[in-house]
Amino acid sequence: MKTNKDWNFDNTYKTLSQGFFSIVNPMPVEKPDLILLNSRLADELSLDFSETDRAELASIFSGNQLPEGAEPISQAYAGHQFGHFTMLGDGRAIVLGEHLSPNGKRYDIQFKGSGRTPYSRSGDGRATLYSMLREYLISEALHHLGIPASGSLAVAKTGQPVYRETVHPGAVLTRVASSHIRIGTFEYASRFLSREKQQEFLDYTVARHYPDLEETENKALDLLKRVAEKQLYLVLEWMRTGFIHGVLNTDNMSISGEAIDFGPCSFMNTFDPSTAFSSVDINKRYAFSNQPGIVQWNLAIFAGTLLPFIDDDEEKARKSAQEVIREFEPRFKDEWYRMMEKKLGFSKSGKQEKDLTDQLISWMEKSKADYTNTFLVIANPDETPGHFKADQEFRNWHDQWRAAIEKQQGGLSEARRRMAQINPLFIPRNHLVEEALTEASGGGDYAKFDTLLENLKNPYREQWEAKELQNVPPGFDEQYKTFCGT
Ligand code: AMP
Ligand code: MG
Repeated sequence: MKTNKDWNFDNTYKTLSQGFFSIVNPMPVEKPDLILLNSRLADELSLDFSETDRAELASIFSGNQLPEGAEPISQAYAGHQFGHFTMLGDGRAIVLGEHLSPNGKRYDIQFKGSGRTPYSRSGDGRATLYSMLREYLISEALHHLGIPASGSLAVAKTGQPVYRETVHPGAVLTRVASSHIRIGTFEYASRFLSREKQQEFLDYTVARHYPDLEETENKALDLLKRVAEKQLYLVLEWMRTGFIHGVLNTDNMSISGEAIDFGPCSFMNTFDPSTAFSSVDINKRYAFSNQPGIVQWNLAIFAGTLLPFIDDDEEKARKSAQEVIREFEPRFKDEWYRMMEKKLGFSKSGKQEKDLTDQLISWMEKSKADYTNTFLVIANPDETPGHFKADQEFRNWHDQWRAAIEKQQGGLSEARRRMAQINPLFIPRNHLVEEALTEASGGGDYAKFDTLLENLKNPYREQWEAKELQNVPPGFDEQYKTFCGT
């Protein structure tokens, strides 16, 4: 069996002390069927499945047959959900282990939807095909947009029904991430485990993700700074592309700086800072423009768990941590302007570039312009996507922008080249995602899913045949809701 030989497990999480995880096996499924296998990600992991037959692949990726070297565990964690502390843990996920690729990179291989665990509470530990296909599609889209995120290696159907509001086909997703250590894992250790175990976990996390910090004078403070930086650049990428995570609880924020657990996520079409599609986010806590502030809030919770390791003197520790948290906001603002100026093709930044950014933001909001398409029109006004409406105010703004661009090195043509690298032509449009998922999970028709997936693999490249995918049916988003998919 070639497949099993390629796996190269080295399971360090399992060497942590008692309390951090539970040993648990995936629950066997009745009728496994392989739906998707990600060859790009398999290549990255140096896993060659070309000679493995479909039945065996189905058996592996549904949890019926474990790959050699796997030592399944579920991880314990807690978290602040919508602002409130709760004990959580992998209720429907099982980490098979850590696969080491030949390039030395370590990857968690995780099943999602593989049955109950000691952390399942009242849940069934299962996942619907719809929501696992959704995670697969969006994680691929994020990857190709250049945004750090967990990856999806495979989706397998279980052949068993999953009961939600209605009956759904069940599925298991094989998820790949550099780890599943969350802010919530630190919260768990801080509330429920001994000081020694907290130190052990701090050391483990630093060694695994930021080994260059192992010998620094203040490891805990440096870890906080590093995670803050990673998360700053991650949320900046979301703001660049219009991504709305949807459930940015502290348990869904990783220490590695990859986007994880973006179940009810969506992309903003019409520019509106208050956009929130998640059905459970009633107060719009996780709305598009709230995300940087929420990341900062989550980092403050993370900081709280590190205080005893920052300084023995609590006051001093608090002061050092607060400094890191406070500077997040002005730093984010600065970086946000740099990013927006790049979206506008500017190679330098100054007062005029900043003013033009502010004016454009206010125009987009007022005129309900499409966030993605606006930047395409700015670069190429002659190729206006269908629904874009350029009024006099926009034309005046565009004249000023044009004059400013001409003064920069390389002029318009260089600016256009830069803009094409940072402004996607294609994002997962909500109406297309829904249509593709409904037809695939409901009727077993994958035509639209496959087409959309192919389109999203080249978000920055012209795809003439896909032009119409840039247009959102008027009114669709107004009633659109996303679900956690639990
Ligand atoms: P999420 O909102 O997907 O990040 O999940 C929040 C918490 O609920 C985590 O602890 C999950 O493991 C748990 N959970 C979600 N769905 C299920 C399910 N179907 N069965 C058991 N636990 C679940
Ligand atoms: Mg989660």
